[in-house]
Amino acid sequence: MDELIIRNKYKVVNGKDFTCEACGACCSIYSLVDLHITDIFRMAEKLGITPKEFFEKYVTVIEKDGAHTFAMNIEGGCKFQKDKKCAIYEARSDFCAFYPNSHSCFDLSQTQKKEIKPKNPGCSAHKQPDNLILIPDLERMAESRIYYMVKEMYLAQHGGVYDEEGMKAAHKKGLAQAANARMREIVHMQIMSEIMQNIPVDDETGEPVLTRDEVKMIYKKMREKRS
Ligand code: SF4
Ligand code: SF4
Repeated sequence: MDELIIRNKYKVVNGKDFTCEACGACCSIYSLVDLHITDIFRMAEKLGITPKEFFEKYVTVIEKDGAHTFAMNIEGGCKFQKDKKCAIYEARSDFCAFYPNSHSCFDLSQTQKKEIKPKNPGCSAHKQPDNLILIPDLERMAESRIYYMVKEMYLAQHGGVYDEEGMKAAHKKGLAQAANARMREIVHMQIMSEIMQNIPVDDETGEPVLTRDEVKMIYKKMREKRS
C-alpha cells in the first residue's frame, strides 16, 4: 500500500487499496449507476454489442425538472453481476470504479463510513482505521469530469434521446479532451480547488485534517497512482 503519514496521525492512501472483500453488496443494494457516454461505449464494446444496443437494453433515462441523465438501473442486482463479481470489471463505469471511495473529494475514512454505513453496513470499507485519508484515482477522476461535461452538452442538445451521430461525436470529443494535456490540467485545478473547500474534518478534534499546502503536496504525489 502506498501511503504518506501526515503529522504522525493521518495515513494518506490510495482509496483503491482498501481491502474489498468482494461481497458484491454494492452491486445490488443501490438503485442507479450513473453512466457517461464513454461508459456506454466502453461497456458496449466489452459486451460485443453496439452502443445503441447497449443503450436500448441497459440504459435508463432519468428525467427531473426537464433535465435528463443516463443511468443503469441496478435495483435488485446489477445484470452484470455474476457470482458476486462484476463480469465486465475492466469496462465498468466510472461510478462503479470509484466506489466506495468518494469521487468528489479527499475523504477521511471516518466520514466515508458515516456516509456508506446506513446503506451498506457490510462493506469492508467500515473496517478501515478512522485516520485514513482516502485518495481516489485522480487521473480517472479528471477524465470522468471531462466525460461528465461532454454528456451534459449532449443532453442539453438531444435530451434523453439516443442520437447516433450525436453520441458518436460526444464520445469522440470526450476522448479527445481527456487526452488533451491542457484540458486535463484545467480539470485537475478545478478538482483541487473543490478539495480545498471540502477538507475532511476530524470527528474528535472538529478540525480540518489537512492544510492547503498538504492538499497540494498530496495531490501532486497521488496523481501518478492509477487504478
Ligand atoms: S457494472 Fe459491475 S461493478 Fe457496476 S454495479 Fe454492475 S456488477 Fe457492479
Ligand atoms: S460492498 Fe464493499 S466490500 Fe463488498 S464488494 Fe462492494 S466495495 Fe467490496
